[in-house]
Amino acid sequence: MKRCGIVVHDTECGDLWARRLEGSGLDLLGIHPAGGPDAHLSLVSCMETVRTPAFRAFRRRANAAGLAVEFEMHALSWLLPRDLFGDRPEWFREENGARTPRFNCCASDPDALRFVAGRAAELAALFPSDTHRYHFWPDDVAEAKCSCPRCRALSASDQALVLANAVAEGVRRTDPEGRAAYLAYGAALEPPRRVRPAPGVFLEFAPMDRDHDRPLFDPASACNAGQVRHLPELLSLFGTEDATALDYWTDNSFFSRWTRPPARFARDAAVCRADAAAYARAGFEAVTCFACFLGEDYEERWGAPPLDGFLAALRAARRP
Ligand SMILES: [Zn+2]
Repeated sequence: MKRCGIVVHDTECGDLWARRLEGSGLDLLGIHPAGGPDAHLSLVSCMETVRTPAFRAFRRRANAAGLAVEFEMHALSWLLPRDLFGDRPEWFREENGARTPRFNCCASDPDALRFVAGRAAELAALFPSDTHRYHFWPDDVAEAKCSCPRCRALSASDQALVLANAVAEGVRRTDPEGRAAYLAYGAALEPPRRVRPAPGVFLEFAPMDRDHDRPLFDPASACNAGQVRHLPELLSLFGTEDATALDYWTDNSFFSRWTRPPARFARDAAVCRADAAAYARAGFEAVTCFACFLGEDYEERWGAPPLDGFLAALRAARRP
């Protein structure tokens, strides 16, 4: 395993996280505008944030501490703005026989895909990545696929990969070394079977529906066995170059059900230790986890969260 890191909200980047990261031994930091149905709005707000002197100073501190910074966001409703629906309904999804601007887009309309690629090029310029990796994901829904006649034979995964391929083409216009993530979570955990990854598309595996109290690769957990069932096929299809696990061990936004105030974070690092080592054995090049809802408002309410065991587990998995 080459890299290990965490993913935090842009709104929580500041002195507190800078201090935690300095000396953490991590080498990867993902910045994540909040997901959910309004993810395209938090993306726009993050655009403002990254231009501020405070964020630039934060990023410099992270870089000086040895962390490469990249951005991870649900982006499709920004890549294809919903207000285009009136003029271009055929760019959007068909659902129950009618076009709808809700979530994602048609995966078979060449003009829609060209538009998405162009916007991905813009987005890559707005969110430059230290690693040349760009995580511009589909909208934040478990499954929202187009069922128009041309898309009907494509699974949700196939359609997600069509979009990732378009994003990869777009980011390379801005960053010739740019690579784009295929986010395997929800319905997209099932491998794409009718679409092949274009050059520069890598696997990002995020088993959100897992049992968080049991090791992911514990065969006695039916839930977790379901989450990893297709993992060998996914790794074989996408290869291990840049393959990234994005897990939830320290995702206090998840454990707070995405509602503030943050819940108290008091989880055991044992599951993280087992999983991070297993990810490394499976061939992942990067192991990361969300660490949201652990910012200043968390410390004011609960004091310092117990992160040391988790950071140690990530570092240990990186060692060969
Ligand atoms: Zn379609």
